Amino acid sequence: MKRSIFILFILASLLLTACGDPASGKLPADKTDEITATVTTTATVSEPTTTPNAPITTAPLPKTTAPDTSESPETEPPRTELPETEPPETADTPVTDAPPVTEAPAVTEELLAMGPVPTVLEYADREILYTSGETPLVTADGTPLTVLRAGHAVIAVARTDETVTILYRGWLCVLDADRLTAEAPSSAAETQNTLGGIYYPAGGRLIAVDAGHQGKGMKDQEPLGPGSTDMKTMLSTGTAGVSTRIAERELNLQVSLLLRDELIAHGYSVMMIRESHEVTLSNAQRALIANAYGADAFVRVHANGSTNPDARGAMTICQTANNPYNGELYEESYALSECMLESYCVATGIQLNNIWMTDTMTGINWAEVPVTIMEMGYMSNVEEDELMATDAFRKNAAVGMANGLDAYFEWKNTDSIIGKSNTGLSH
Ligand SMILES: [Zn+2]
Repeated sequence: MKRSIFILFILASLLLTACGDPASGKLPADKTDEITATVTTTATVSEPTTTPNAPITTAPLPKTTAPDTSESPETEPPRTELPETEPPETADTPVTDAPPVTEAPAVTEELLAMGPVPTVLEYADREILYTSGETPLVTADGTPLTVLRAGHAVIAVARTDETVTILYRGWLCVLDADRLTAEAPSSAAETQNTLGGIYYPAGGRLIAVDAGHQGKGMKDQEPLGPGSTDMKTMLSTGTAGVSTRIAERELNLQVSLLLRDELIAHGYSVMMIRESHEVTLSNAQRALIANAYGADAFVRVHANGSTNPDARGAMTICQTANNPYNGELYEESYALSECMLESYCVATGIQLNNIWMTDTMTGINWAEVPVTIMEMGYMSNVEEDELMATDAFRKNAAVGMANGLDAYFEWKNTDSIIGKSNTGLSH
């Protein structure tokens, strides 16, 4: 097998440690947007930093008590036409049994000497392929990287008749073409048939990605949370670009597809709630699918809109600690929201607004896994609308969100280590 490995860039955008305390008010407060709730915590974001191979540092996670004031934000406003779907069956969760993942070896001098590092952004024609058998990945100097099990999703970035170059956690690996197939493994296919969603088994952790909205809104009502008598419209149609006229569903989907590729490259399994506009899934149903797959994180990709054309910036949304349906997930959801917001803003240069904690979001309330809504920016703001329409921005957005998930799981790991050492102190 002819193989060689190069290093790939790292977009590792360093997080601003200062952002760990969004309430600290270090940075100038910015205008309040009437529609999106009064948000306090505001910070401006520094320029994107690209530091090759820098580890992602997770900022500490102080709790801010962001005011949860106004009425329903643009995120899930009522609207539009259209009937119902039957809720997806919540079957027993067939979660992927992920292979043990060996960390990529530290960068060596030899590898660095191999030449300029390509970046993910250069690969326009990426393709998802699956390993057809157990597939060892080995560096050029013979160091084992990992062994992928059969049916593992990888991103092919180039191919010849005999070889396929894949992207694995920042490494480029050249494999014999017969080791890879375009066909999804049957277990993944079965899972999809049972639950819906499009499932890419890759690494040990599973991220459910929900590209907000769909072809048509769903005006029927559904409970605000499990057991709730409060009802809310099943799905709104979303907003649209004030200048580009791009529909929010389209922007959300395009970024989500890039996020999928980025997550697989980071070694995550991915479950896409939708990859087309031709679905009929309410907010609650989307959460149920993420629950059924046993996602480690549920990421809902949206863009904002406001009657104030000057409103701009990104925010994430999670539940409060007192949420009657899943308040126990608050701490994790908050950490997820914080990590993703910071990384996203660093990677895109979009202004960092705040994390909004609210219990008014059906798709959050039904989640049984850590969840966040990523509001990427304002389509009602000409500048942000036009920026978000560019390929470069969308790719950076995907990279930033994937980095944010890395940071979140790093936080979780650190947290559990602290927990263990605490229990070990009882001697
Ligand atoms: Zn939306």
